[in-house]
Amino acid sequence: MHYLDNAATTPVREDAAKAAFEAMINGWGNPSARYALGAEMTAKVKGWRQDVAKALGCGEDELIFTSCGTESDNWAIRAAVEINRRKGKHIITTAIEHSAVIEPCKALEKQGYEVTYLQPDRQGNITVEQVAEALREDTVLVSMMLVNNETGTILPVAEVGKLLKRKKSAALLHCDAVQGFLKAEFTPAKLGVDFMAISAHKVHAPKGIGAMYVRKGVKLPPMILGGGQESGLRSGTEATAQMAAFAVAAREGKAHLKEHLEHMAQINSYARAELTEKVPGLELLTEGGAPHILPVSLVGYKSEVVVRFLSDRGVYISSGSACHKGKPSHVYAALKLPKPVQDGVLRISFSYDTTREDVDALVTALQAAQRELFTSLS
Ligand code: PLP
Repeated sequence: MHYLDNAATTPVREDAAKAAFEAMINGWGNPSARYALGAEMTAKVKGWRQDVAKALGCGEDELIFTSCGTESDNWAIRAAVEINRRKGKHIITTAIEHSAVIEPCKALEKQGYEVTYLQPDRQGNITVEQVAEALREDTVLVSMMLVNNETGTILPVAEVGKLLKRKKSAALLHCDAVQGFLKAEFTPAKLGVDFMAISAHKVHAPKGIGAMYVRKGVKLPPMILGGGQESGLRSGTEATAQMAAFAVAAREGKAHLKEHLEHMAQINSYARAELTEKVPGLELLTEGGAPHILPVSLVGYKSEVVVRFLSDRGVYISSGSACHKGKPSHVYAALKLPKPVQDGVLRISFSYDTTREDVDALVTALQAAQRELFTSLS
């Protein structure tokens, strides 16, 4: 199998899976219990939180465990408008956010909020000037992702952070860093954000856990009321096995970050060169960006058909619609690509363990697709 869809999800690292197993078999106590086993688990939860916080570059008291990136995005957006409820009803976001941001924004529109969706250029770039132009007295939230999940483009979150400070804006800044965490070097403080969402299954840990950064001093309204876990903000008995695995993946990912980034960048440029040379008619859609994402188009071919064809040959990539249940992607639509280019969009995504052989297998399978599949171009 040649797995080249790491932006959709990543295989769980063995050491992370072992940590989860250990937490389930030997460390299954309830952290809220008043006896020794409970205290032991409370200490473990603290350690796991420290590991993830350290990898993200924030204080342990600024990190809340959630169930996934989607939950963190939803919570941050609702929290920001709740905190700023007396200050206005205008939100700025981008047209290329993940649906975990777009959908809560749409829900707020139904409640009377006005949302400005900044449009990208043909490469998927959004500029700080666009945010400056859209910013108003009554803007209460700016939500901007760090790395786009379909194009790999990096958005100017740090510049937006500085802009909001310079303008003394009341707007809170949320950053969906689900595709940025351990794929770029940053800290929430350096970006100047108030909230940030990350997800474990994109960094070789299991599904079912994510985290939210909340800047110290921001008074976050609770998500789930109950037994008071996660500082009373998100009650519910802790998902200790997932936390244990997330901690290992975050710690190891951070320890090897430079080397991983370099490896993915090398694989990315190898893939760009090989695809350009050996698959004529394939278009690279962006010039650069995050090292793990390479969006291309097999112009004139239907991407879902190509994805299935490749899958039959053991090569897994995405048609760019994995999160859209087969609907055309709003991100590629926002790039306003010509129809034959848009129809043929494929997202290739790498990880620290992707090999040149994986890329070679992709090239061979795409060449076969070009020979054997019908094209709308004649
Ligand atoms: N945000 C981005 C940019 C993503 O790529 C994803 C997942 O694809 C999410 C949010 C949602 O994360 P999760 O799958 O953990 O809910």
